[in-house]
Parts: sequence; structure tokens; C-alpha cells
Amino acid sequence: MPEQQKPGFIMCVCTGKCPGFRAMDIWDFINQARVELPVEYAFIHPQLCEEDGDRFLADFLKVHRKLVIGACAPNMQRKMFKRAFADAGLDIEKDAVMLDIRDMNNERAFEKVQAALAQMETEAGR
Ligand code: SF4
Repeated sequence: MPEQQKPGFIMCVCTGKCPGFRAMDIWDFINQARVELPVEYAFIHPQLCEEDGDRFLADFLKVHRKLVIGACAPNMQRKMFKRAFADAGLDIEKDAVMLDIRDMNNERAFEKVQAALAQMETEAGR
């Protein structure tokens, strides 16, 4: 995939205190993701569904890059982020892949994100 078309990866960690991320070393995970996965960048946000998360998304989504979001249940993410995507002129169903990576160790979460990126690449090549 050309560099400018690579997706970004955002991991949201529910303030870092959520038991759902206890099985993971989040810093090792995000470092492995940003170095080894075909993404433009990868980073951690502490609480995307809070008001400052909305403000962050309002700025960040202006670049219109496709995203993978690793966080809580996709249906919850959909409800919480739909408005921000729509306000940026994006369609959350087409422009983002939302993954639940809670209750996983690093390896399982990495594989899940990797599989989603491979799927996106396949779809982009159609
Ligand atoms: S978006 Fe999901 S993972 Fe992130 S803080 Fe909100 S509930 Fe937690």
C-alpha cells in the first residue's frame, strides 16, 4: 500500500486503569504495532469517548485517513464516534475498522489488528 494510503492505528485504553487491558503490556504492544504493522503511525489515547476525545477527533479526522481503532466493543465505539466521523465528512463504517482488543495479551491483540489491516489492504486492492 502506498505510504500516504496507509491507515493510522489508535488504541484507546480506558484511562489505563480498566481491567480489560490488564493482560497486556500496552507500551510494548503499541511500540510493536507502530514498528511492525503497515500503518502510518500508531499511538495510545487515554479516553477517546470523553469530551477532550471528541475535540481530539474533531481535529484529527480532518486529514481523512482510514483508521483502525483498538478499544472497547465496536458497537459502543460506533455509538460514541459516529458523530465525530460524520462531522468530519467521513462514514464510520467505511473509514474505520473498530476492534475490541480488551482481555487479550499482546500477541492476540497484535494478531487481531494485523488481520484487520490485511483485510483493509485486500479490500483497497479490489
Ligand atoms: S472509547 Fe471505549 S475503550 Fe476508550 S475510554 Fe471509551 S469506553 Fe474505554
